[in-house]
Amino acid sequence: MKKDFEVMLVEDSRTQALKFQIMLESHGYHVTVAQNGLEAMNMLLNSQTSIVISDWIMPEMDGSELCRAIRKHDFGNYVYIILLTAKDSKNDIIEGLEAGADDYLTKPVDDAELIARLTTAERVIRLESSLKQRNKEIALLSITDPLTKVFNRGYLNDNLPKAFKRAVRYNQKLSIIICDIDHFKTVNDNYGHQTGDIVLKSFVKELNDSLRKDLDWMARYGGEEFLIVLPETDLNGATAAAERFRSRIAKLVTHAEGNDIQLTASFGIAAISHEANESYLTTDDMIKAADRCLYQAKDRGRNKCIGASI
Ligand code: GH3
Ligand code: MG
Ligand code: MG
Ligand code: MG
Repeated sequence: MKKDFEVMLVEDSRTQALKFQIMLESHGYHVTVAQNGLEAMNMLLNSQTSIVISDWIMPEMDGSELCRAIRKHDFGNYVYIILLTAKDSKNDIIEGLEAGADDYLTKPVDDAELIARLTTAERVIRLESSLKQRNKEIALLSITDPLTKVFNRGYLNDNLPKAFKRAVRYNQKLSIIICDIDHFKTVNDNYGHQTGDIVLKSFVKELNDSLRKDLDWMARYGGEEFLIVLPETDLNGATAAAERFRSRIAKLVTHAEGNDIQLTASFGIAAISHEANESYLTTDDMIKAADRCLYQAKDRGRNKCIGASI
């Protein structure tokens, strides 16, 4: 039975190390051996080891020093430490636990007991890793719009001001585009809300696929309104991008519940001008400017892009 966990043995006595290694390998563990704490730290930095069984008294760096060094460092995964000690006075054990050990065994070590402690270690590591995974998922959910899977309004509220401040401080270009689907109410009215949702998702996918990867990002700003952030982009660049989005959206056909649905969208663009870099303009001013342009695009017949500098 091959185990998922790699165990590192830290032991200065070669005979002791070999004895443990043979025993652990017979129980399916993949084992690496370090002769002291320093060597162990170096090996840990280049491995996925999540369980360390360490002798206490060793040259260079002893067991409790190794515990402290491991706890100071972020390995990405949790490292579970079992200290082996000939010391069995309460104070020594407390010192080991305070240094960051999770568990200890007194020498001579009983094989069955060590294997049982390793089973506990595996359980703790699995638990820690599933919690970490879950936390990541929750963090992602908290910034994602559930229907369209792009960033939500909360993310936008946190991150657009940051992008704005950065651009102003470092004199960089920045543009935003607000887009709003034309006559979307009629889609819902003609085909029902469910089909409306399908069309909305397809619209967002098309838009998202059109963004420059790793640089531009979009968020759901309102019902069928989305805001696209284009760092390092001036008004000309952003207008060209909006025009590309507009034309791709106008060509998009969404098949939803037996219907082929086409729509258009209107785009309002706002870019920071050089003068803005020294002014007291805010993110809000930029959004308002893009909104005014969007309103004009609607007013002038929809399926249009209109931009302005602030
Ligand atoms: P225009 O913007 O061109 O002026 O017309 P419109 O019909 O798109 O304008 P309006 O903003 O008045 O309507 C937006 C509609 O979008 C109303 C609302 O029911 C619909 N909507 C907003 N969010 C959703 C959603 O998540 N799913 C669906 N199916 N519809 C949505
Ligand atoms: Mg020793
Ligand atoms: Mg609309
Ligand atoms: Mg709207």
